[in-house]
Amino acid sequence: MDVIHKGAGDLRVTPNLTDYEQTRASFDWPAVPDVCAGMGEGGCNIAYAAVDRHAEGQEAGRTALRFIADTPDSAELTTHDVSYAELGRLTRKFTNVLRGLEIGKGDRVFVIMGRVPELYISMLGALRNGSVVSPLFSAFGPEPIATRVTIGSADVIVTTAAIYKRKIAKIRDQLTTVKHVLVVSDEDAEIPDTLDFHRLMDEAPEDAPIEHTTADDPSLLHFTSGTTGTPKGAQHVHGAVKMHYITGRYALDLHDGDIYWCTADPGWVTGTSYGIISPLLHGVTSIIDEAEFDAERWYRILQDEEVSVWYTAPTAIRMLIKAGPELPAKYRFPHLRFIASVGEPLNAEAVWWGKRVLGLPIHDNWWQTETGGIMVANTPAFDIKPGSMGRPLPGVEACVVDHDQETGAVRVIEEPGVEGELALRLGWPSMFRGYLNQEERYRKCFHDDLYLSGDLVKRDADGYLWFVGRTDDVIKASGHLIGPFEVENVLTDHPAVAEAAVIGKPDPTYGELVKAFVTLKSGYTGDDALRRDLMGHARKRLGAAVAPKEIDFVDSLPHTRSGKIMRRLLKARELGLPEGDISTVESPAGVKA
Ligand code: ATP
Ligand code: MG
Repeated sequence: MDVIHKGAGDLRVTPNLTDYEQTRASFDWPAVPDVCAGMGEGGCNIAYAAVDRHAEGQEAGRTALRFIADTPDSAELTTHDVSYAELGRLTRKFTNVLRGLEIGKGDRVFVIMGRVPELYISMLGALRNGSVVSPLFSAFGPEPIATRVTIGSADVIVTTAAIYKRKIAKIRDQLTTVKHVLVVSDEDAEIPDTLDFHRLMDEAPEDAPIEHTTADDPSLLHFTSGTTGTPKGAQHVHGAVKMHYITGRYALDLHDGDIYWCTADPGWVTGTSYGIISPLLHGVTSIIDEAEFDAERWYRILQDEEVSVWYTAPTAIRMLIKAGPELPAKYRFPHLRFIASVGEPLNAEAVWWGKRVLGLPIHDNWWQTETGGIMVANTPAFDIKPGSMGRPLPGVEACVVDHDQETGAVRVIEEPGVEGELALRLGWPSMFRGYLNQEERYRKCFHDDLYLSGDLVKRDADGYLWFVGRTDDVIKASGHLIGPFEVENVLTDHPAVAEAAVIGKPDPTYGELVKAFVTLKSGYTGDDALRRDLMGHARKRLGAAVAPKEIDFVDSLPHTRSGKIMRRLLKARELGLPEGDISTVESPAGVKA
């Protein structure tokens, strides 16, 4: 099998992790540097480690956040820099804004806005205040907002005038727990029933001692992507900061002086853990693009902003691939040093594309809203096997288990190559502490000292983990268990295919039949000849039992707003069944490919 040897990337800088085995063997959580040491005995607060520490330190004058405005013309990038010192000043002011409203420790602050400075200021300022922060994706409509705000019992909402008027005003009566709505507005006139964010900020004093919080105090409430059903609210704690710190070192290879770009929105856990917290912990400069995806704009940002570490998602990479090779040929990326991806399986072809087009392989990694931080990763310390999500990070014990869904029995599978559920041994600091209002569901995620992830994987003899599919998506055809990713990975290896999604369609003969939905790269037409060619390609690689029996060419696939393919929706539509919770479905409009 083709592997990409370690060191095949750019090694201008010695990676933080060079000896994987040895670092794992000697790893000890208590020995990880205490980024909250300055808070005094037992103190732990994410915002202290991310902001306060640097606002007073050597990094004070360094740019913490560089915002790129959403202007109609992307040829010229308009930027706005916020230094660590300024971020400290603004977040302290926001802490005082909340205190002035009698919002304190444990109270819930929901933040609903695009990637503008006020989003970052309010989230970090609220964390300093000991309040529990829940960022909601700004493109949610009124209903998904109402559901989440209600189950999260929000005390405060921070939003923009546009979002308030279009979405929240309509549902305001239903939001009975909400005491204050703070609105970021360009207008002079205040909006009834709201408070003006900037007026409160102007009036707030700059000094605000941080609330005393400990590692076990609640910090963030993140809703899952809703890929497999109704989104769950996962409760996290401040102690997670240790995980954000160490994974920034080992999985993202952050170094002093890096320019880092995480493309995820803070409405999803990646956009908070790695779009806000981890880069700030390492004192690097983060690029924040306020605009939506646009292939050319993204290449321009990578080039003009001299991005050195890039953390993105398979769906974005596939959109770049789909947009064709002419665009990247116009740009140069001499500063890029490390690329990582998360959120969905990263097909092998996408890893190679990175190497060919950007000059660097893409390092896939795996984690979930529930795990709070990266668990399994391809790191600079070992070869990449394209299509694999890598190996468990130091400090993370992963195993493959046979989990009987009926009886709940769990058996650890020792032998390599056997498919089973990915489980993690408890002990990493960013594990979620509950599903909001779903105690029983939370309990069911655990067996003894194992957390059961709900994802199926295989581990090879070298300890690499290979994603098979979610337990919910696995196809049972002619007595075989087929993981959709295995089939999708082969389909996307065909030169015509941009993206593929595979489902099991009930069938009297096979039990389930493998059906694929495929989008094509520009320049290809989905006709019978291509269908035959694709079927032949899949049969040759996968064998007749696993290759799709049906292939539909479609213009686009349904994705969650966090960029994941919603196979359950394809299946429901195929079978004419109810679509279930569709609050997180992305509308194709607004995404330019
Ligand atoms: P829900 O739990 O509401 O159905 P979700 O599981 O998609 O939504 P997230 O927590 O955002 O919500 O996503 C985590 C899931 O994403 C993982 O359990 C896994 O299925 C998938 N995933 C993340 N990274 C990878 C990866 N590198 N390879 C394969 N799958 C991945
Ligand atoms: Mg999930």
